[in-house]
Amino acid sequence: MKPAADLPSPRTQRDRAHPIRQSKIMAETKGVLLSSWRQLLVQRFGEPAVAGATKSLDPADRVLLTQAFLPSSWYPFETLHAFRRLTRSLAATTTKEDLTDEIGRFMAEQACLGVYRVLLANEPSKLIEKLPLVEDLLFRPSRRMEVLPSGPSSVTVRYHYDDYGDSVKLYRSICASHIGFISKMFELAGAQGVKGQHPKCVSKGGRYCEFRYDWK
Ligand SMILES: [Zn+2]
Repeated sequence: MKPAADLPSPRTQRDRAHPIRQSKIMAETKGVLLSSWRQLLVQRFGEPAVAGATKSLDPADRVLLTQAFLPSSWYPFETLHAFRRLTRSLAATTTKEDLTDEIGRFMAEQACLGVYRVLLANEPSKLIEKLPLVEDLLFRPSRRMEVLPSGPSSVTVRYHYDDYGDSVKLYRSICASHIGFISKMFELAGAQGVKGQHPKCVSKGGRYCEFRYDWK
C-alpha cells in the first residue's frame, strides 16, 4: 500500500522538493517533543483554532498530527514538519510572531524537566558532555553530532547528515527551534545570557548545520 506521506498535495514547490519525502530512511523523533509542540500551540492559539487549522492541512499531515504522543515513544520525523506546517498556518491567521525559538525552549523544558531529567546538568561544562545524549534519546537514526567546546563559556555544535542520506535534513525554522532548545538546556544548567547562532545550515547549501552557543 502506498504510504500516506506520498499522497499528492497542494504544497509549495519548496515543500515538494524537500528531500525527506524522497528518502528511504525512516527517521524518527520522540513523542515528548511532539506533545510539547502541540501543547504550546494550544496555549497560544486555543484548542478550537488548533483543531481548525489541523483540518485545513493535507490528509497525510492530519494523520500525523492527530495521534496520541507518548513521551518516550518514537514517531516519524516528518511529524515535526507537519507541526511546522500547522504552526505556519496558525501564525498566518493570528500573528506574525516567530514562534520557533519559543517552541524549542518549551520542548527542552518539557523533556528535561519531564521524562528526560537525565539531560539536566548542574553546570554548563557538564551539559556539554551530555549534549550527544540529546541525539541518542530524541532522534533516530541520528545525524552525527559533533561537539566542539570553544572556550570556558562557548561551544560549537555541528550536525552532519552525509552518513544518513537526506532523511533528517531540516528546514531553517526547525534549525531555529534547535537554538531555543539547546539555549534553554544551558539556562537550566545555570548559564546566564545564553546566545545561540546558526552560521552554517544545510538548508542554505552548507555541508553541515553549525550552531554556536555563548554564555556569561
Ligand atoms: Zn540548519
